[in-house]
Amino acid sequence: MKKSRHIAIVLAGGRGSRMNSAVPKQYIMLRNRPVLSYSLECMQNSNFIDDIILVCGRDDEEFCRHDIVNRYNFTKVCSVIPGGEERYDSVYNGLAEIERLAIADEYSYVYIHDGARPCIDEMLLAECRDNVQKYGACVPAVPVKDTIKIVDNDGFCVDTPPRSSLMAVQTPQCFRYKLALEAYKSMNDARKNGMDIRTITDDAMVAERFTGARVKLCRGSYTNIKITTPEDMDAAERIICSNLQKIEKI
Ligand code: C5P
Repeated sequence: MKKSRHIAIVLAGGRGSRMNSAVPKQYIMLRNRPVLSYSLECMQNSNFIDDIILVCGRDDEEFCRHDIVNRYNFTKVCSVIPGGEERYDSVYNGLAEIERLAIADEYSYVYIHDGARPCIDEMLLAECRDNVQKYGACVPAVPVKDTIKIVDNDGFCVDTPPRSSLMAVQTPQCFRYKLALEAYKSMNDARKNGMDIRTITDDAMVAERFTGARVKLCRGSYTNIKITTPEDMDAAERIICSNLQKIEKI
């Protein structure tokens, strides 16, 4: 087995209720292809990603295998597996699949990426690789542009954190494989013992809380947007068109 394997876990197990669409957002057509196919394509064409685990909705495995993985020839996808109730359940399933396949060793890294972020590119991935190899855990992030308010239950402001200390984090969130597995296993144990983990919204939080690891923020990109509401589709289309134009000029 090759050392230092780089494995992407691409998450597509959500329903995306804020899109108000009958089709989950990761399968909506963006230009002429499903949203999910863009991040898979980036991982497939990457110079250093070795394998891809695709985590999809419970009833979507056949669709993903035939209409996405086979159709677009994503040969690095070694498993298509069902996700769980929450995002962190889907991540855990992805990590467990890597363990089952025995494709990772202690020198391996995982790149946990939202399939609903189609505008990722190789430059961002490489930035993540350099940082995860150096620090063991990293997430791409960008400074927030808006002022952020903490509000009470009645919608009144109670605090305004200084904007200079606020960053918006993105994916892929990247870890040494063993660190991610340990973090997620500990989280599951804590949950079985009654811990409320509903406030956990990203993988960095899991690593921080359950292993004490320090997570390095590396340079993200304002174009690495997550599709959440319908207007994000227009923005993603503009970004993808502009990236294609840049490639054509080269
Ligand atoms: O819902 P949200 O936008 O935060 O989801 C982020 C990513 O996590 C999406 O790509 C979504 O498909 C995935 N997800 C998942 N399993 C879930 C919930 C979300 O794989 N149970």
